[in-house]
Amino acid sequence: MTLAIVATRAGVGLDAPAVHVEVHLANGLPGLTLVGLPETAVKESRERVRSALVNAGFDFPNTRRITLNLAPADLPKEGGRFDLPIALGILAASGQIPVEALEGMECAGELALDGKLRAVPGILPFALATRRAGKALIIPRECADEAALAGDLPVLPADTLWQVVAHLLGQEKIPSHRLPASVKTTTPTADLADVRGQQQARRALEVAAAGGHNLLFAGPPGTGKTMLASRLPGILPPLSEEDALAVAAVRSVCGLPLDADWGKRPFRQPHHSASAAALVGGGSKPKPGEISLAHHGVLFLDELPEFSRNVLEVLRQPLETGEIHLARASHERRYPAQFQLVAAMNPCPCGHLGDPRQRCQCTASQIQRYQARLSGPLLDRIDLQVEVPALPPEQLTAQTQGESSEAVRERVMAARERQMARGALNSQLGGKALEAACDLNDEERTWLASVLEKLKLSARAYHRVLRVALTLADLQGEPKPSQAHLIEAIGYRQLDRILGKG
Ligand SMILES: [Zn+2]
Repeated sequence: MTLAIVATRAGVGLDAPAVHVEVHLANGLPGLTLVGLPETAVKESRERVRSALVNAGFDFPNTRRITLNLAPADLPKEGGRFDLPIALGILAASGQIPVEALEGMECAGELALDGKLRAVPGILPFALATRRAGKALIIPRECADEAALAGDLPVLPADTLWQVVAHLLGQEKIPSHRLPASVKTTTPTADLADVRGQQQARRALEVAAAGGHNLLFAGPPGTGKTMLASRLPGILPPLSEEDALAVAAVRSVCGLPLDADWGKRPFRQPHHSASAAALVGGGSKPKPGEISLAHHGVLFLDELPEFSRNVLEVLRQPLETGEIHLARASHERRYPAQFQLVAAMNPCPCGHLGDPRQRCQCTASQIQRYQARLSGPLLDRIDLQVEVPALPPEQLTAQTQGESSEAVRERVMAARERQMARGALNSQLGGKALEAACDLNDEERTWLASVLEKLKLSARAYHRVLRVALTLADLQGEPKPSQAHLIEAIGYRQLDRILGKG
C-alpha cells in the first residue's frame, strides 16, 4: 500500500473543520513535498516528523518520493497539530502500521524530535467536532482533560508516538480517558456577603443581574467598586452545560487553562492601557479578545475615562450584536461576545470630588475634560449609573454581613423567568415591546415626562428608565412598574446630569 489517509481537523476560530492528511509514496526522485496551503509551522513539521520517526525507531522512507497533501486545500492550516497525523500517514503508507487501523479515529498533536507528543491549543472545539463525527480521538496526554470536557467520545491520550503506534498495532491498547471529578468541580466565586454597606450599589448590582443591564459605578478610589463588580458573575444564573462549553471553547483557542474556571461565568478585567485588538480580538489570524473571553460573563472596565476613545468605540458593535466580526487580509473570524459590561470611574482626575475624607485638588475645567472623555454612544448602552460614595468609618467597621450571593441569585433567577416569558431580557427589549410590557396609562406617562424634564434628562433617558423600572417590577413579582419603581429607576440616571449626556 502506498497511499494512506489520516483524519484530523484545522482550527478556524471556534470551528474545527475536517482535514485529511493524504500520504502517497512513489518511486522516483527521493524527497518530501507538502501541499495544501500549509503555513510555516506546518512546513517545519517535515523536519520534526522525520526526526521523531527515526528517533522512535521507525523507518523513514528515505529512498521514496513522498507527497503529503492536506485537504481541502483552501482551508488554512496552522500550528504543529498536523505532526502526528503526518507521521501516522507515513507509517501507514510505508506499511509499518495497517491502513485499516486508522479508520474511525481522528488525531492531533505536535511531535518533539525524540517522538514525545506535545500539547496543541484549540483541542476542545476539535473534540466537540470529533464527537459529532462519532469517532475516537488520539491526542497528547496534556490535552486529555480538555478533550474529555466535550462529553461522550473515546479520548485516547498518549505521551509518545511509540504509544500511539503500539495502540494501532493492537499491541498495547490505550484506555479511554475519563475526566477526574476535580476538573468539573467549580471553585467558589467571591461572595456578595463580603461587601460591607453600599446598599444602593448592591441593589443596582442585583437589578443589573436580573435584567442583563450594563452598569456604571462612579465614586472615589477605595470604596469597593471593583469588589462589587467582581460579585456580579456569582449572582447570575449558573451556566448551562452548553454555555459552559462555549465559554471553555474561547479559552481553548486562546491556549488558556480550562480547569480552574470550568463552568464559571467569566469575569474579565482588562487594564485601561489595553489596545483595541486586546479588547475585541485581532492579529493577522484573528484571535479572540477580552470581550469574547467574557462571553456569558462580565467585562469590567475600571477607570473607564482612562481608556482611549477609539478602544471604547470598538465596543459598540459587539454590545449591540453579541458577537465580534474580525476581518484581516485573508482571514475572517466571528467570535461570540455576549458579555455584560460593568464600568467604574472616579468622579474626577484626583478621585476625591465629593469625598468627605479628602479634598478634591482638581480645577473645574480638569473635571469637565475628564468627564467629557466618556463617549456618549457607549453611555447610551449603560442602563444603570450609580454613585458609590465613601462610607463613614462606622459603616466600614460594622460587623453585620450583607446578604449572600446565593440569596440574591434566587431573586435574580425568578425575575429572569418572568422576562423569558415575554421573550427577552429587559435590557434587550425594543421600544415597542418595552412600552407594551410597562403598560403606562396616560397619567403615568405625563407624570414621567414632566419629572424627566424637570431633572433635565433627555427623551432618550425615557426608555432606559422604563427598562430598569420593568426589571424592578419583575424582581418584586409585579405585573408592571409602579410609580415607586419609576422613581427608583430615575435614581439610576444620576450621572446623566453630572455628565450632561442624558
Ligand atoms: Zn479631583
